[in-house]
Amino acid sequence: MGVVGETGCGKSVTGLSELVLVPPPGKIEGGKILLRRDEQWVNLLRQRDAYLRKVRGEDISMIFQDPRSALNPVYTVKRQISEAILHHRTEELCNKLLEESEKAVEALKQGNLKDNEKAKLRKSVLSNLEKRMLEMMIEDPSGLTVRVASRVPFLNRFKHRFNDKVASEVVRMLRDMRIPDPERVADMYPHELSGGMAQRVVIAMGLSCNPKLLIADEPTTNLDVTVQLQILTLIRDLKKEYGTTIQYITHDMGVVAEMCDRVAVMYAGNVVELSEVIEIFKNPLHPYTKALLECIPRPGAEFKSIEGFVPSLINPPPGCRFNDRCPFAMEKCVREKPQFVSAKEGHQVLCHLYTGETK
Ligand code: SF4
Repeated sequence: MGVVGETGCGKSVTGLSELVLVPPPGKIEGGKILLRRDEQWVNLLRQRDAYLRKVRGEDISMIFQDPRSALNPVYTVKRQISEAILHHRTEELCNKLLEESEKAVEALKQGNLKDNEKAKLRKSVLSNLEKRMLEMMIEDPSGLTVRVASRVPFLNRFKHRFNDKVASEVVRMLRDMRIPDPERVADMYPHELSGGMAQRVVIAMGLSCNPKLLIADEPTTNLDVTVQLQILTLIRDLKKEYGTTIQYITHDMGVVAEMCDRVAVMYAGNVVELSEVIEIFKNPLHPYTKALLECIPRPGAEFKSIEGFVPSLINPPPGCRFNDRCPFAMEKCVREKPQFVSAKEGHQVLCHLYTGETK
């Protein structure tokens, strides 16, 4: 799903709103943010912080245009990706360790194994104490017993096992991001990474808990063109591999054409047109969308831009917010806000030209 529009039209704020992370003094004044979770629709605007902390990362995550500002300069890549995994996937990883141990015990009973295979399996077998501690971690990862046992030598072997599992998960994520030599990169600090590599690490952080929705906020803006193409290809491939919906925020219609199935065009805080991507390019309806498409540079053609400026969103103009830049503006456009209407199946537009007697 592409979200496209000029700088300052509200694309990033829309993404942050979906995570209920609008920075103050901004606030969400109305509407709903509906997420399908545990077989029911949940309005995120009515949930407590603890619930939202589970949703962020696990159901919805976001990657930003400047990967370096999204990474903490004093922690290694491994530590930063682990944080999301530890917060959301402790139960899953503990269960994996317990399952691997059971399977290894069964396999060892069968015999017919070479010495090196036996040695490998024995490494996965957990002691009764380790099993018990992992079960306690599943019940309450930050419980007092778990915290104390993690610090006591000999008792803390379960923690080492768990940390090794998290580290192998981080390396797997980095490998999925097509990063060569992921074990080495996991121990690097952000300043040691190139721009493209840093963006791959940020994408790994975003996908580390396999969210339903990944909001990608202009993730290629600060990269050179060859790296941009690599990152776009990676995001498209990961969408298929992880089955994650990607909301791709951009001001570049070329990227929308390449990446998206559907597109929402935004202007001054409103979605003004929503459609399949092919339909938008073939049959744009809103005057702003038409103007945006005309601004795509073409070889030999004069360079075009949209006259005027995006209005202030603190004090937006009455009626249609595009009225002072629109070549089709009517008297009604200054007085009355247009309604979002369905111009044809799957194609909606916010403009008086497609409503009532003006249609
Ligand atoms: Fe132009 Fe009026 Fe449509 Fe706004 S509502 S885009 S001013 S024609």
